[in-house]
Amino acid sequence: MSKVTLIVPCYNEEESLPYFYEEIKRVESMLMLPDYELELLFVNDGSKDRTLEILRELASKDPMVKYVSFSRNFGKEAAMYAGFCNAKGDYVAVMDADLQDPPSLLPEMLNILETQDYDSVATRRVTRQGEPPIRSFFARQFYKIINKISDADVVDGARDFRLMKREMVDAIVSMGEYNRFSKGIFGWIGFKTYWLPYKNVERVAGETKWNFWKLFKYAIDGIINFSQAPLSMASWMGVGFTGFSFVCLVFIIGRKLLFGDPVSGWASTISVIIFLGGIQLFCLGVIGQYLSKTYLEVKHRPHYIVSETNKDDVERCK
Ligand code: UDP
Ligand code: MG
Repeated sequence: MSKVTLIVPCYNEEESLPYFYEEIKRVESMLMLPDYELELLFVNDGSKDRTLEILRELASKDPMVKYVSFSRNFGKEAAMYAGFCNAKGDYVAVMDADLQDPPSLLPEMLNILETQDYDSVATRRVTRQGEPPIRSFFARQFYKIINKISDADVVDGARDFRLMKREMVDAIVSMGEYNRFSKGIFGWIGFKTYWLPYKNVERVAGETKWNFWKLFKYAIDGIINFSQAPLSMASWMGVGFTGFSFVCLVFIIGRKLLFGDPVSGWASTISVIIFLGGIQLFCLGVIGQYLSKTYLEVKHRPHYIVSETNKDDVERCK
């Protein structure tokens, strides 16, 4: 018998949780039960609504429900990491509580891992229906850029929803970095992944926790965590500007020798100075971004702090 752990990060999901649980029960009855044992591992990421109460209630009447509750909101990445560290299953999946990751795909995903030579089955949205067009546009640009400048291999439209074998989960747990970007981590560790396309589904209830600004910062984090290209970009810009200034120098000396030098052109001088000042500040900012990540990393703070759980033992991982 194989054990399947479903990790469900929850932040203010009181409205979607009842639907989610109902759907899981339906899917459970579709699985060939003697072969599989399901474990639901909810991670309450410091919700401010009744999420924790609902989880306590579910856990009291259903032994397959386990929960780990954080002392405050640590973010979805921390919640997923807590899930990976505490999942005991031979197969482990992450899925959102809002049913945007359809649990009904699970039997098919399990079947692929059992019968074919793959280590994980990941899902990919083929449409972005129901999403604001501007968000889709920037998302596409992000995937283009990160794949060009990093070795993370992030697939456009990839969701965090995927089912993995134990070896892959152990590899993820071993990546104990503080600044986490799961889409990059999944790609970086390798293994054979089967991509399952599906149509975008809208949230069953409640609201998305991501606004445009949060997503933008997440995208920048993703790039900085998996690519050194922005750092070398600063050096290349330096080389370019040095070359350019050399050409200017030759031009100015030539002009002085041939035509003499009437005093003029202060406006252009000022704008060049401001332009270069801007570039320098930008590059300093890029270095600052990496430095701040390094700073957080070397402090070795825990990824999350657990305030309540119904599990016997809680792993904190690294
Ligand atoms: N989530 C979380 N911590 C957060 C934000 C979100 O655990 O700080 C969970 C949330 O409860 C949901 C999943 O992450 O189960 C995805 O969030 P959401 O549906 O808001 O994102 P979207 O689907 O809009 O990208
Ligand atoms: Mg969602």
